Amino acid sequence: MIFVTGGAGFIGSNFVLNRLAHADEAIVVIDKLTYAGNRENLASVEHDPRLHFSHTDICDGAAIAALFVAHKPRAIVHFAAESHVDRSILGPGEFIRTNVNGTFELLEAARKYWSELPEAERATFRFLHVSTDEVYGSLGADDAPFSETTAYAPNSPYSASKAASDHLVRAYHHTYGLPTLTTNCSNNYGPYQFPEKLIPLMIQNALDGKPLPVYGDGLNVRDWLYVLDHCRAIERVLEAGTPGEVYNVGGKNEIRNIDVVTVLCGILDELRPRAGGRYSDLITYVKDRPGHDRRYAIDPTKIERELDWRPAETFETGIRRTVAWYLENRGWVDRVRDGSYREWIDRQYGER
Ligand code: NAD
Repeated sequence: MIFVTGGAGFIGSNFVLNRLAHADEAIVVIDKLTYAGNRENLASVEHDPRLHFSHTDICDGAAIAALFVAHKPRAIVHFAAESHVDRSILGPGEFIRTNVNGTFELLEAARKYWSELPEAERATFRFLHVSTDEVYGSLGADDAPFSETTAYAPNSPYSASKAASDHLVRAYHHTYGLPTLTTNCSNNYGPYQFPEKLIPLMIQNALDGKPLPVYGDGLNVRDWLYVLDHCRAIERVLEAGTPGEVYNVGGKNEIRNIDVVTVLCGILDELRPRAGGRYSDLITYVKDRPGHDRRYAIDPTKIERELDWRPAETFETGIRRTVAWYLENRGWVDRVRDGSYREWIDRQYGER
């Protein structure tokens, strides 16, 4: 039995679906179901007896402690977070609450549970914390990619809150011996990503014939990884990672934002031609995000060498799969884009 926090979100739901498909182990999903959490993501495994769902806020320490006592997990994979940088700029409070205080409550509950386990189970228990490359800050064009020893320099309230949670996880290993693992991954894309993030937002706007808003000059660089490759990396770390260690995860796919959007437009031109023009005609440059990091890039040498992990998808294959999924699942997008989503998008892009 493992716990998966945030298992109804983008990466968490991909992790749960993928894991249930190949590993015969029960999972308890712990999720508050914020705007980003959606039980529909898990609909295909809803009746699987190995899946249990707990509608719980990770900040509720007593409820989390009770879940540990009730289910006795051998590991916890911690995805739950507020995850959207733009939202963190408009309202950082919730990011501090969930990402910092919530991770603290989980660590406390895990520490108590773990410290009372028999010796053999204490040795094999794992607390795997899923984090981001954004904690390392921004790279210049000629800087070497982020490694596990790069100094932390978070620039947004989101990345600062994730950095704080990474430090807490590190401290719980060093101070109490809790067998923790941390992964810092680059930008993910794929099915079930909430349509406020770059790739699903662009696909959806293109299909709706709306402007494709590109921040600033469009030359910010991100290192993209297909979500299932990230999920497979997490599984490798869970099974074979060394407690206390950090693993950077990335696909060596550094791409400028404008190039991502142009590739998407090209695939859509091919798969769903647009009446009256090409999708790239919809590209619109908008005012840059405050403090927008210029470049992220991950050096994944450690996880490749020590755990023999490699991504299965290239950006070209992964992005085609992703566009195809969004074309086939327009109903999913419509359902998650409820009133609160529209209000947020209007606030974000309305006046530009
Ligand atoms: P997401 O926003 O799609 O999903 C977050 C999930 O956490 C949702 O299901 C939400 O309901 C749940 N949640 C939020 N607050 C909660 C709380 N207080 N208690 C319980 N559940 C709560 O996020 P994502 O993109 O799937 O990211 C998952 C994790 O991976 C995050 O920790 C994020 O920092 C990290 N990460 C994401 C990326 C990326 O590109 N998306 C890259 C690297 C790391």
